[in-house]
Amino acid sequence: DFLADREGPQPARLTVLAGPTAVGKGTVSAYIRENYPDVLLSVSATTRRPRPGEVDGVHYYFVSDEEFDRMIETGELLEWATVHNSYRYGTPRPPIDAALAEGKRVLLEIDLQGARSVRAVMPEALLVFLLPPSWEELVRRLIGRGTESAEEQQRRLETAKVELAAQDEFDAQVVNTEVSEAAREVVELMDAPFSRNDFP
Ligand code: 5GP
Repeated sequence: DFLADREGPQPARLTVLAGPTAVGKGTVSAYIRENYPDVLLSVSATTRRPRPGEVDGVHYYFVSDEEFDRMIETGELLEWATVHNSYRYGTPRPPIDAALAEGKRVLLEIDLQGARSVRAVMPEALLVFLLPPSWEELVRRLIGRGTESAEEQQRRLETAKVELAAQDEFDAQVVNTEVSEAAREVVELMDAPFSRNDFP
């Protein structure tokens, strides 16, 4: 338990970055992967197929349903969830435990259900919520991405509405107006001394 010998507020070593669909979590975390190499960005396992440009082991571990079942059974996943009523996504635990044991900072980019699960199993984690500059901008980003069908876009917008309402459950909020600025704010939050009492 890495909380055991804490004296007062310490930096949160495990940070969860969550937020509504299309807010730019993936872009902000990719920026952190490129520009803050001392932060370990957790690579999730997923049962969805890769999009063009996505690399197995870098963006996700793309696994079969059978392999995902096996990871659940062996307790390899810190948390997992079915996202947008379709594919399963989960956070492999061993790399995270290894990095935390070395005192490294770890960032998880996961959905809201995942953030709640992490809080339940690791109450010392820092939960950061990424916000769009406005609702109109969120809609523009989701449609502009052009990777989902119209039906899927509609479904994700409904999810986003519900997800935005959860921002107050989080320890901190960062507005994603400009990617490098949002990334810098997230990393600064990871480095700041933190105790849950700071966030009533
Ligand atoms: P996408 O398919 O667009 O890459 O991701 C869809 C959603 O799955 C995003 O909201 C992303 O944050 C979430 N996600 C990615 N990895 C994980 C994970 O390991 N656990 C959970 N709970 N959600 C994840």
